[in-house]
Amino acid sequence: MTPRDNIILSYGDMERDTIQSSQECPRCLGGQDKESSLSVGMTGEGLLWWRCHRSSCNFRGGWRGGMPGGEGTAPVKARSTYTYHAQPLPDEVALMLAERLHVPVETFGETGWSYTPAYAGRGRRVMIPIRDPDGRRRGFIFRSYWGDTPKAMNEVLPDTGESIAWFRASRYGTTVVVVEDAPSAHRLMCAGMDAVALLGTTINEARADEIVKAGFRKAIIVLDNDATDQAIKQALYMPRFSGLFNVKPLDKEDVKDMDDANFTKFVSEVRAMN
Ligand SMILES: [Zn+2]
Repeated sequence: MTPRDNIILSYGDMERDTIQSSQECPRCLGGQDKESSLSVGMTGEGLLWWRCHRSSCNFRGGWRGGMPGGEGTAPVKARSTYTYHAQPLPDEVALMLAERLHVPVETFGETGWSYTPAYAGRGRRVMIPIRDPDGRRRGFIFRSYWGDTPKAMNEVLPDTGESIAWFRASRYGTTVVVVEDAPSAHRLMCAGMDAVALLGTTINEARADEIVKAGFRKAIIVLDNDATDQAIKQALYMPRFSGLFNVKPLDKEDVKDMDDANFTKFVSEVRAMN
């Protein structure tokens, strides 16, 4: 079966106006790092589309009706988009998050974090808004703090730009800190820094474009050691964006996990790179 047929069989009867991110790409299988790099969506008009975010793969396409394989193909149950009931963050959850991320408890409500008691049969989840550079919501991260896997599941609306989550502290900043996960970006924003979370480790031309169009002239890539080599390669291989990216490898802890002293030191080091 071709990767294209594979996608049509798996997602061909997706509900309209839905999208699923962080799926496995049948062409590259996520590469060495087994990234969940594929987004698949069904438009309101019934067009199935897909796109792999790994720049070395870039598998994309569209399909409208007509199952492959002809007669005799068993009907395949599509992975459906999940229903959930969003509610305000319970106080005890907000307090837990504030303690873990070392940020004021009111910052979560102020920036639209919410909660669902159940999601996709994978436990209760904190819902973190995925916003575009102008603050418009483009989706949600459903993040578990209670041991359910996967730790984070994303839903992104179609045609809302890149699947990256902006946490801007200012309107006209010129330097943005690029991190992997949304809680780290939220913590940086609370410290007054513009941040964007890749929701993974992919940096490609479209994402670099979004950063530049948002007015930033410098992007400091902060990724853990495993991801850094790959990140440097991805960033340096984009001649259109030479000079945009700087890399600051992390010693051991994620930004979200640093104690106050390490975080303060980290922030001053990043500011010194401006
Ligand atoms: Zn791929």
